[in-house]
Formats: sequence, structure tokens, C-alpha cells
Amino acid sequence: DESARLSQSPDDLPSVSVSVQFSDFAYRTDEGKPWVLPVVKKVESIIVNDTTLNHEYLPILGLPEFRSSASKIALGDDSPAIQENRVGAVQCLGGTGALKMGAEFLRRFYNGNNNTKTPVFVSAPTWENHNAVFSNAGFEDVRPYKYWDAQNRGLDLAGFLGDLESCPEHSIFVLHACAHNPTGTDPTQEQWKQIAEVMMRRKLFVFFDSAYQGFASGSLDKDAWAVRYFVSMGFEMLCAQSFSKNFGLYNERVGNLTIVARDADNLKRVLSQMEKIVRTTWSNPPSQGARVVAVTLNSPELFAEWKDNVKTMADRVLLMRAQLKAKLQALGTPGTWEHITDQIGMFSFTGLNPNQVEYMIKEKHIYLMASGRINMCGLTTKNIDYVAESIHEAVTS
Ligand code: PLP
Repeated sequence: DESARLSQSPDDLPSVSVSVQFSDFAYRTDEGKPWVLPVVKKVESIIVNDTTLNHEYLPILGLPEFRSSASKIALGDDSPAIQENRVGAVQCLGGTGALKMGAEFLRRFYNGNNNTKTPVFVSAPTWENHNAVFSNAGFEDVRPYKYWDAQNRGLDLAGFLGDLESCPEHSIFVLHACAHNPTGTDPTQEQWKQIAEVMMRRKLFVFFDSAYQGFASGSLDKDAWAVRYFVSMGFEMLCAQSFSKNFGLYNERVGNLTIVARDADNLKRVLSQMEKIVRTTWSNPPSQGARVVAVTLNSPELFAEWKDNVKTMADRVLLMRAQLKAKLQALGTPGTWEHITDQIGMFSFTGLNPNQVEYMIKEKHIYLMASGRINMCGLTTKNIDYVAESIHEAVTS
């Protein structure tokens, strides 16, 4: 039979498993429920009742008031780069879409046209999609850079700096802007300065991934410190922003790719090429989620309310961290547990080994990654005693 077929055999078209437990990445209330932010509910009703709105296509690059306000919260209202008209943005489908658009652009134009050989470095470990997004965009050399020091349960700064020193010039580095996923461990400001110094000297390209702004410390400005510092140092850069977590708009796919270019002319040319890439990918983005974010960010009252909502989420996670550490210490669980509160954001690398993780899952029905990573949002005031006692058992049995 010579007819065209999708595949002849399982060898041509193997089944693959894309198993993602999306709730692993989401915020939960103390009742263990998803949370629609009160400010989002309010803005959604404003939008529904706005008779001037319709369902016409958005521009290719997205809603202008969304793009500019999103870039502003990353770079700061008073960013000199914005004042110099060298900041632009592409509204994307989530943070993932922003990473994808950035990766597609870089493969086409960075360090020579269609240079698929430029190394792309992602942290070891990292959010698992980073590798695939860059290799799917055509980069043939996606590699890890040293980040996590398992022994000391903290940042391997010497290893990280060593990789920055020894990699090929012009390599691309994906940096987590804050609340590193999965380790919950960020460089300090002093450490970021050292990282920036080497990256500038060695002509390395910075691609920030900012998926948790506000979530780490409860403060938008504090969580954007690294991004703003790199801009102040004069880096050209990309920054993928996700509004999934900090607005709780997971299924609306709201993301923004902020571009900090050398000058206004360069920015214009970058954006024109971005338009071409978007046109052949999703043509133009959806409006609802981006409108919710834009209306919120562009009203001082709603903006203040949003910051308050973000703080509610961040504070709940901080409280769970403090309580978990205190309970483990009170139980006298062997080991040090300072890292639980040293780490920030949604995730924690507990330091439990694979046997202990298996014990937690099989004996206690507490589900965490084989790496020992837990989503802190799974903890509530009702289950935290059980979780602490289970960790104690897992460690001592
Ligand atoms: N980057 C990191 C580090 C993440 O943890 C996530 C989501 O878990 C994303 C990007 C993707 O965000 P989005 O859901 O907006 O695509």
C-alpha cells in the first residue's frame, strides 16, 4: 500500500509521554484550593461590562498597554532604558511562549544568522521545559551550568562562576530572575554582581526567565532586582515574563517578552523580525488575560490591590516555610532545616534522598518529585503536622 500515511510503524512514530502535573506548579490556598485573585475578579467584571470592547484581532505584537506596563514592572517605572526608547515587548502565550519567541529570535539572528551552534546554558537543575524549548527552537548545544550545591543545600557560586569563565564567548545563559525553580535558591545581590561582571567581560548573552515576580519576597521591586541591575550595567537582553503565578491567570496564557536593545533603531529592527516570527506562529495573541493584567497595572488603585493579593500568596508560603522548619526542629529531625526558610518562592528542595522520597509517597501518600522538590503551596495549617511528622519518619526510619 503506497498511500500516504502518518506513520508506517511505531518506529516511525513512537508514542511519547508528556506527563506534566500542572497543579505541581500552581498556588493553593490554606484550604488546598485554587485562588482567583479578588483584583482579577473585579477587573474581569469591569471588562465584561465595558461596551467599547469587542473581539477583533489584536495587533501581531499584542495589546500595547499590556506590553508597556508589563515591561515597566520588570524594569521599573524610572528605567533609563525605557526613557531612551530602547525597550520593547512582545505579548506571548505565557512565560513559555515568551521563552519560545526569544529562542526563535536568537537562533535566527544572534551571533550570526541561524547559528544553531551557539551554546545555550541552563542551570543544573532547572525547570524541565527550558532544555526542550531551546532545542526545539533549533539550538543544538543546550547544556547545564553549575548551580545547586547538593551537599551544602545552597548555590554553587564557585561552580557557576567557573562555567561562566570557561564557556565560549557569546554563549546564551538562561537565568531565573527570582525564586529559582526548582531549588528556591537565588544568588544574593553581591553574587549577582559577580555573575554580571563575568558575563559582561566574557560577552555572554542574558536571557532572564521571570515567572515568579512578587512571589519570592512579596515585593515586585525586590524580586526584579537582578533584572534591573543587569540593565543598569548596560546588557542587551531578553526577559520572559509570566503572569500565570502572580496573577493566578494560568489558563489565560499571559506572558510578555521584554527586549532591552542597544538603541531605538536596533529595537525597531528586532521588533519587526519578532512580528514576522509571531505572524507564522500564532498570528496574534489572545486578549482576555492580557487585558486583565493591563487594566490592573494601569490603575493606581487596582495596582495597589494586586500587590496586596500577591503579598497574600507570598506570605502564606513564607508562613508554611517557617512552620515546617519549626516543627522539624521541635521534633529533633536529624539534619539542618535552615534551607527551608533560606529558600524562597513556591518550591523547596527538601534535601530528602530518593529512598526518603519513596517512603513519603508509598507510606505517607505525600507526593513530591524524586529530586526531593516540594511545592510549598501543598502545605496547609491542617496538614503541616502530618507532613513534618512524615518527613521525620522518612529521615529516621
Ligand atoms: N519558567 C519557569 C521557571 C516556570 O517555573 C514556569 C512555570 O512553571 C514557566 C516559565 C512557564 O510559565 P507559563 O505557565 O506562564 O508558561
